[in-house]
Amino acid sequence: MTTSHTISPVTRARLERPFQSLIDGRWVDASDGGAIDVINPGDGSLLTRVAAGTAADVDQAVAAARAAFDSGIWSDMLPSERAKLLWRVGELIDTNAQELAELETLDNGKPVTFARYGDVPTASNHFRYWAGWCTKITGRTEAIDQPGEWFASVWREPVGVAGLITPWNYPLAMAAVKLGPALAAGCTTILKPAEQSPLTAIRLGELIQEAGFPDGVVNIVTGHGHITGAALASHQDVDKISFTGSTEVGKILLDAARGNLKRLSLELGGKSPTIILEDADITAAAAGAALAIFTNSGQMCAAGSRLFVARPIFDKFLAALSEHALAQRIGNGLDPTTTLGPVISDVQHKRVLGYIEQGRKAGATVLTGGESIGEKGYFVQPTVISGVTSEMTVYREEIFGPVVVAMPFDDIEEVIQMANDTNYGLAVNIWTNDNSRAHRLARRIRVGVVWINSFGVTGPNLPFGGFKESGWGREGGIDGIEAFTEVKSIINKLI
Ligand code: NAP
Repeated sequence: MTTSHTISPVTRARLERPFQSLIDGRWVDASDGGAIDVINPGDGSLLTRVAAGTAADVDQAVAAARAAFDSGIWSDMLPSERAKLLWRVGELIDTNAQELAELETLDNGKPVTFARYGDVPTASNHFRYWAGWCTKITGRTEAIDQPGEWFASVWREPVGVAGLITPWNYPLAMAAVKLGPALAAGCTTILKPAEQSPLTAIRLGELIQEAGFPDGVVNIVTGHGHITGAALASHQDVDKISFTGSTEVGKILLDAARGNLKRLSLELGGKSPTIILEDADITAAAAGAALAIFTNSGQMCAAGSRLFVARPIFDKFLAALSEHALAQRIGNGLDPTTTLGPVISDVQHKRVLGYIEQGRKAGATVLTGGESIGEKGYFVQPTVISGVTSEMTVYREEIFGPVVVAMPFDDIEEVIQMANDTNYGLAVNIWTNDNSRAHRLARRIRVGVVWINSFGVTGPNLPFGGFKESGWGREGGIDGIEAFTEVKSIINKLI
């Protein structure tokens, strides 16, 4: 295992300062003084504590966001001025990239190289991309089928106060993915980061203040999901919730939203297939399949966690994939040579190992990995499982760890049926040298994202989200901005 643990003096100094909630431009502790331990998954140590926001704190944050929205200080600001502020956040993220990457690694465990060159630029690019949208939100005119002269226009207005609830797997990037379009659309916001990894969201709040945002436009309340998140989701004065997380919590939010019928966007879980056709380049496809399940220790909504391989190449392919599993440099994410960090928490560690054990008991074969590793921290070996059936829990449920289940298939119709045999519908990655077959498959698989001969490539302009129980709506591009708007028709008779 890799072991280096160096962090820069700037990050060390930041860790010594308090991590509080941002409400109406002020950094505050929880109103009842409650706090949550933030644990470093790389060694199980206590990193710091953050405010455990109460329902009263959420009330205050919502009141601040409501006042900022109603005053027009943000939504009526010149679009080009809003754009400048969003752009400036992107620049500040880049200026503070190393500190943000180190905080992300300490908090989430992911390899610092991935955080520095993946998560952090993703976040800054999102702010710059969404800055561009501030000046490009448009409506349209429509003809009126009535006698007389008319001017009918269709407007897009900000939906209002938006609650943004994010998961722990890509904390900084997810905050940017939601804050960017919400702010570009003219909404004011309350961000509730995941309790396991709230540090970069808090640091982002500091950068947003440094950029010069008016008070109340961005509020950040840390805390427990069932308290802080639930208070936000059910709040009568919140107009919209944009949520990324589990399907289980997504369904809870349906109930929470019913009080005022607030708008909901849900980016939820997946059990996405990786499909290897017989003519695929095995070397490239094995590297791609490994990327699809071992990146971020498999803690990705779009992880390729079900692997379907054409039967003639099944054994050869699994051997190639297992080599990638064995080649992973597992260890503390702060070591720049680490490629596979820990899973997020003790709970998740037990959960992932529990799934593997369940698979074994049900008769599946663990080809590679399958064990906990290391004395400290929450490490799971990259794991390849075969001999599964479609009834097994390990095949059906989202594990959210570096664990892939593999099955052979005999023909295209069979693999389409296998790919669609899930309640989820987030993504698929397909490997073949026959692009026409790839496209035919792409159209038959009920998912929101298809990668052909690639995995994981996204961008702020590309709609991302799922069919079925993988969610409601899309983030990214025009779909992403529209999700933070309401449509208004204005029909004017000319007199
Ligand atoms: P989670 O348990 O659903 O939590 C997500 C967020 O919801 C956290 O901030 C959590 O707070 C909060 N929350 C929990 N219970 C709540 C409640 N009753 N009311 C309001 N908020 C509540 O998900 P996770 O374990 O953090 O993340 C993993 C899941 O996210 C996976 O299923 C993954 O597939 C999904 N995901 C989806 C996408 C996508 O784009 N489709 C992207 C990334 C991840 P606490 O942290 O305090 O519990």
